[in-house]
Formats: sequence, structure tokens, C-alpha cells
Amino acid sequence: MPTSKPDTGPAAAPSFDDFLSAEIGRVQKENRWRFFRPVTTSQDAKVRAVDPRDGVERELLMLASNNYLGLANDPRITRAVADAALAGGAGSGASRHISGSMSPHEALEKRLAAFKGTEAAVLYNTGYMANVGIISALAEPEDAVFSDELNHASIIDGCRMSGAAKEIYRHSDMADLERRLSRSKARHKLIVTDAVFSMDGDLAKLREIVELARRYNAWTMVDEAHATGVFGRSGRGLVDHFGLTGKIDVIMGTLGKALGGFGAFAAGSRKLVDFLINRSRMLIFTTALPPHVCAGSIAALDILEQEPERIARLHRLSAGFRDRLKEAGLDLCGSVTPIVPVRIGPEEKTLAIARELWNEGLFAIAIRPPTVPEGTCRIRATVMATHTEADLDGAATRIIAACRRHGVIR
Ligand code: PMP
Repeated sequence: MPTSKPDTGPAAAPSFDDFLSAEIGRVQKENRWRFFRPVTTSQDAKVRAVDPRDGVERELLMLASNNYLGLANDPRITRAVADAALAGGAGSGASRHISGSMSPHEALEKRLAAFKGTEAAVLYNTGYMANVGIISALAEPEDAVFSDELNHASIIDGCRMSGAAKEIYRHSDMADLERRLSRSKARHKLIVTDAVFSMDGDLAKLREIVELARRYNAWTMVDEAHATGVFGRSGRGLVDHFGLTGKIDVIMGTLGKALGGFGAFAAGSRKLVDFLINRSRMLIFTTALPPHVCAGSIAALDILEQEPERIARLHRLSAGFRDRLKEAGLDLCGSVTPIVPVRIGPEEKTLAIARELWNEGLFAIAIRPPTVPEGTCRIRATVMATHTEADLDGAATRIIAACRRHGVIR
């Protein structure tokens, strides 16, 4: 006699735990597993850190930080932060729309506007929030955002959130950008680009972009996350470097990279800033930066102005480091900046090289999809002004040797 199955209802959904195990398994199988490496010192040119896979704490040369000028642990900045915390407290209480705009917020915005040569500036808590908050306020579904294919993830997410048509042009391909601009019927056209591409270390063709924007009546937005403190007079950015001050509608910059602190901003006309204060959800619905964090950025801007030689040293060291790697035949993805990506290719080989470099005392990380396109995994090394020539010479020797062992070069 056939036995009827007990009625268990609709197919049982996997438990929360099973779902997490399956997803983790998938990421591991793709060699895309990510984990934190505990750092037990401050962020300096040399750090002590633990690889959780062997539990060993090592001293490593930091080659993975955007702390380009070494300001993250500059005593003048930590003193300014500490003094401001003692005087003004630890937190901002709410969004500035709600609990008010504190003196360090106001002072930093004035400094940033003067630094970028714009009428006004407004703070965001992070660069990620700034990009999402600016783009989603400026663009709506009737509009189109023209975005370089290698733009940062936060720009991509801003485009997604805006609901605007996405026109993703080939990396720095001005003919592709022009083709797309010329056939677009969108109400407003917004061209958005990284100034320095964060994973390739090359520069956006800002002059050409400004010219195309003029010709096709488009708006321009430049993400100066890796250009602020690195390019231009006293680190004013790539817009300044190319003599384009006043010609870009929106400049976005960050305070957590070369400036060594935390936060971000949009700079432009007074009207732009008033519009963002009223329409940018990433400003309205979030607690403002703590005031002492802003005091740290003001101190960092003082140092940029007083010590331009830091920036010159950063570029001199970067050029020497790139030259050594290039002479060995390595592909540096067209870098002309302190971001020096060594292109390897497949995940497995890139991870093996990164692990060997770690064991040899280099904190240099494997960058894999989705951060970079499939098949273009790389070791992204970043130079800091606080590295020594000997540090970078030793690092280049080790990177070249590891790449030879793995057949990346002969
Ligand atoms: N834009 C670019 C080009 C970046 O590289 C980053 C940071 N990786 C951001 C924006 C985001 O900035 P933040 O880290 O301040 O969120």
C-alpha cells in the first residue's frame, strides 16, 4: 500500500544559519573571502598587525593605507583633536538640521571652500555618503548620469539610488563619453568621475571632460578623494592641478585619506550647498560629524599649507617606486600617482603573492572583484611621504621576487 508523505506545507526555506553558511561557502570557493587583520599600533609607515590565519603579530611596512602624507598620527593633529574634544565634547547630538551646526563644522567648511576655491562647502560623514548623497539629490529618473566604468563603488551606488539612466563610459574614453552625451535625450546630464582612480592610480582627463560638458550642456562632478592633499597647490586637488577651479559644478573630497582624519565634503557654489542642505538625505537623516573630528581636519589643512614639501616628497618617492617595478616588467595599470597597483590577474595567484609578502613584512593587500573587474586582480601598494627610500627599495625587491616566483614576470 503506498504510504502518503506527511504534509509539511510549502518547501521549507533554509534556516538563517544555513543561508549564511551557503553564502560564506560560495565566497570562499571563489577565492573572494575577506577578513580583518587586527592592527595593534597607530596608523604609521610601520605598524604591528596580526594575520588571523596564523595568529602571529608582526611588524610590517604599511603599503595599504591612503594616509599618503602620514598625517593620521601627526601629534599636532591628535593634539587639536584632543583639545577640541575636551572643549567641545565627543558628539554632535543629531543632524545639524536638528541640534545645530557647531563651531568646528562651520570653521572647517569655510576652510574647505577657501582651499578648493569655491563659494561654499558642506560636510558629509564619509566619502561614500557624500557620493551617494550628492548624486541621488542631483539626479532623478528623467536624468542621465555619465560615469566612468572605473569610478568608485559609492558613485555607482549614488547612480543606482538616483534612479537616473546610467551611461557607463569606457575608462577615460572621451570618444565613448561624447557618443553617449550626443545621443542622450535626458532632461539633465551629469558627468561624474574619480579624479585619481582609486584602484588604478591614473588621472581623469578633466580638461576634456569640462570641454565635453560645455559642448553638450552637461553638469560636472569630480571625486577628489585621492587627489585632495596629493595634487594641486598645497594639495588643493586635481581640479586645481589642471587649472580648472571654477569650471567644475561639484567637487567632492574626503578627509580620511591624505588629511589623515575622517569625513568628506561637497564644494561648489553657495546655491549648490543650500540645495544639498535641503535635499541630500545623507546630510539630513544622519548624525553630524563629531566636532573634534572637524578640528583635526582644520589642523591637517594648516599642515598642508605650511609643509608643501611633504607632497613633493610623496611624489618623488612614488616615482622612484614605480620606476623600479616598471623596470622589472610589471604592469602598474597606468599609475602616475602614489597608488601603485601591481597587476597579477587571477585571484589565487594574487592571494598567494599577498600572503608571501605579508610573511616577509609587507602590509600589501590583494584587490579582487567586485572592487576591480574580473581577471584583473592586483596587489595595490600605496606610497606614503613617511616611508623612507630604503623602505620602498626593500618593498620593491620583495614584490619583484614574489612576482618572479609566481611567473608574473621572468
Ligand atoms: N571615492 C573614492 C574614489 C574612494 O576611493 C573612496 C574610499 N575608498 C571613497 C570615495 C569613499 O570615501 P570614504 O572612505 O570617506 O567613505
